[in-house]
Amino acid sequence: MIDIKSKREIELMEEVCRIAALTQKAIEEAIKPGITTLELDEIAEKTMRKHGAIPAEKGYPSGIKGVPDFPASICSSVNDVVIHGIPSRKEVLKDGDIISVDLVAYKNGFHGDCCRTYMVGNVDKETKRLVEVTKQAFFEGIKYAKKGNRLGDICHSIGEFVHQNGFSVVREFQGHGIGRQMHEDPGIPNYGKAGKGVRLEPGMTLAIEPMVIAGKPDILELDDGWGIITEDGTNAAHYENTILITEKEPKILTLL
Ligand code: MG
Repeated sequence: MIDIKSKREIELMEEVCRIAALTQKAIEEAIKPGITTLELDEIAEKTMRKHGAIPAEKGYPSGIKGVPDFPASICSSVNDVVIHGIPSRKEVLKDGDIISVDLVAYKNGFHGDCCRTYMVGNVDKETKRLVEVTKQAFFEGIKYAKKGNRLGDICHSIGEFVHQNGFSVVREFQGHGIGRQMHEDPGIPNYGKAGKGVRLEPGMTLAIEPMVIAGKPDILELDDGWGIITEDGTNAAHYENTILITEKEPKILTLL
């Protein structure tokens, strides 16, 4: 069931999404060669708590027997790590790396979810194009995030844009509705058929998140039970915002 948010609930979503965006800003300012992913994690937690929010990813259950709850405040996914990378004091960013930082703030009963892929120092031309296409895929998708359109219009647009640019979308993970729960209905794949799926209605809040691989779409899981890497070792990028469907244009809640 898709939860349609009331005016008051939307105000609370806006507040927590702004905190998520401010947290990304703090991360962006800190990214440089030599910093560790654990240091970025600490910055994220501190920023969220300063604004009265808590990092919702910390302690998130894996749902898999033998795999511990997620231990950190951000997912930090470097180069060929697609999603769900665990921050570490041993992981030092170096010139030419890319890192996707996916974070979820929680406050007053609501979640705000966003991801950016940052370029560390000087990144090669093709990797830069990967990062830019991934971000642009989000904006291509939300052109269709309007009342009366169908969910598949967004999914199709993202997938087509990525393929036209010669990259692959991840098929096993997807965007989602968001609100009181981090993951709500509907699931939002980064591919699909235009004209299919649920009709978009004002008050829906959706996390739209293209996950893009430079090479083939296949993925593998790391031994920690969380990290997802590309099978062919090529780089991956990820860009996400929480948006609100309105009577007119969609509102991006996690951009400042
Ligand atoms: Mg996210």
